[in-house]
Amino acid sequence: MNLEKIMNDLEKKHPGEVEYLQAVREVLESLEEVVDQNPQFEAAGIIDRLIEPDRVLTFKVPWVDDNGKVHVNLGYRVQFNNAIGPYKGGLRFHPSVNLSILKFLGFEQIFKNSLTTLPMGGGKGGSDFDPKGKSDAEIMRFCQSFMLELWHLIGPETDVPAGDIGVGGKEIGFMYGMYKKLAREHVGVLTGKGLNWGGSLIRPEATGFGAVYFAQEMLGTKDTDFSGKTVAVSGFGNVAWGAISKITELGGKVVTISGPDGYIHDPEGFDVEKINYLLELRASNQDIVKPYSYEFPSAQFFAGKRPWEVKCDVALPCATQNELGKEDAENLVNNGCMCVAEGANMPSTPEAVDVFKKHKILFGPGKAVNAGGVATSGLEMTQNSMKIAWGREEVDARLHEIMKNIHNACVTHGTQEDGYIDYVRGANIAGFLKVANAMMDQGVV
Ligand code: NDP
Repeated sequence: MNLEKIMNDLEKKHPGEVEYLQAVREVLESLEEVVDQNPQFEAAGIIDRLIEPDRVLTFKVPWVDDNGKVHVNLGYRVQFNNAIGPYKGGLRFHPSVNLSILKFLGFEQIFKNSLTTLPMGGGKGGSDFDPKGKSDAEIMRFCQSFMLELWHLIGPETDVPAGDIGVGGKEIGFMYGMYKKLAREHVGVLTGKGLNWGGSLIRPEATGFGAVYFAQEMLGTKDTDFSGKTVAVSGFGNVAWGAISKITELGGKVVTISGPDGYIHDPEGFDVEKINYLLELRASNQDIVKPYSYEFPSAQFFAGKRPWEVKCDVALPCATQNELGKEDAENLVNNGCMCVAEGANMPSTPEAVDVFKKHKILFGPGKAVNAGGVATSGLEMTQNSMKIAWGREEVDARLHEIMKNIHNACVTHGTQEDGYIDYVRGANIAGFLKVANAMMDQGVV
């Protein structure tokens, strides 16, 4: 495989799509060897067909605010690859959303979904709409307008969106209501639904729980676990919340959370009372980070900074892409951090990943670590198809098993001669092989 030629051609075709190009390069770098060993992939143009999405749909989303003012946002759905199942991937509502970010997320989703072993292809979508500070009525009108375009493109056997940044249970509810009205059917077309209308237990906490189950397996390779470990977490959204709850349950102490404006360091750690207080703040759509540090005197707020300067044993970046750079990685390593597990998608820059690998600390990439969210979405789809609802323990046990299997797949494909486990390589190869072989079986389409 001629990586530089592929990347040069892709850059010419999609100039400025920085995140997408970064994600493709990261994956292809670890696939070079396996592609060279399997000339049938080259002959069938597997890489060329895999790195371009099947289709990208963009549409305008007009909506009216509470003062009668008209706004127009952009809506997107990137249907990347459906070789192993219907397109599947979240919707992100955030002002930073653009085509490059959604293509990077959709591309990553192909491999992540493959790793879960469930039949799901890769996709992603969203809008540059910012739900922050909007009334429920405004969010509802936006979601309805968004679905008015999206509903033609999706279906329980075609493309099944879910939540992501800025899209939680409320937004999924508003979108599902509109889909149901337009399609006149009550089916599992979205995941992350409410429990009363087709949702699965554990789905809200699944990404965070899954990330911790994966990190626990990583620590297990060094004969240790979360008990007594100090953990730095970034963000305080859906993923961070699930992760913090599970780490605390397993005896770890989470000492940081963060927002776009800075981070809180609480050396005493987060207990149930603190987590509940954070949840209240989150539900009231307020800023979380600053009010928390005022309420709990043990906590200190560091404006404009990231949590990676705090001494910790384990780090879980759970906020957003490229939130952990080279200097942050060096700080973590110098402070004795032994394990970094990505709860978010691509939170570490390539330079930061190089630092982790150079120092041979445990590093788990997002596509493996955070796959528990989409895996549980897959379990929600199964329950919808079977028209049954599993109990909490059953879903949790299945999630736990899936995360262990993903870890095993990474070990199988990523263990190097000196015993170091390159999880990036392991996850990319394991995810790729299943999709590539399915594409081979299905011909050039
Ligand atoms: P949320 O919107 O629930 O939370 C995101 C959190 O990150 C918020 O606390 C937000 O703060 C904070 N944040 C946003 N930008 C920054 C920044 N620049 N620096 C520091 N903090 C920031 O999203 P999710 O928890 O759902 O998603 C987080 C990450 O996990 C994303 O990368 C997402 O793609 C990934 N992911 C999510 C899955 C899911 O099931 N939800 C599944 C797999 C991956 P504030 O609210 O103040 O903006």
